[in-house]
Amino acid sequence: MDELTDKQLNGFRQSLMNTREELLVLLDISAEAGEAVVLDQTRVGRLSRMDALQQQQMSNACRAGYKKRLVEVQHALSVLEQGDSGLCGSGSCDYGWCEQCGELIDIHRLEVKPESRFCVGCQQATET
Ligand SMILES: [Zn+2]
Repeated sequence: MDELTDKQLNGFRQSLMNTREELLVLLDISAEAGEAVVLDQTRVGRLSRMDALQQQQMSNACRAGYKKRLVEVQHALSVLEQGDSGLCGSGSCDYGWCEQCGELIDIHRLEVKPESRFCVGCQQATET
């Protein structure tokens, strides 16, 4: 497979910027949700204290996931935006190449997860 075209790079850049916006919004909203759970503990309601704690833990787990993804997205954007033109042209860009083995990451994988830093093979190797 050939390297990514400028058009594809632009598309992924747009998608990454949208994802970053979404994550920033999600992180703000879940910050408020976390506070609400804390306040609920002093109130007698349908939620027991245990439920509230579980909800808070879930919300913390979500936040950690969002934050992790935000770091990945920002990393991908910084790789994508390196270069004089603000968007690296084909051939001079590290975006879309596996950081582990140097192979081009599958385009379908990038479409699902544009912040991917590794190809499927290397990603599986890091997770197992
Ligand atoms: Zn790889």
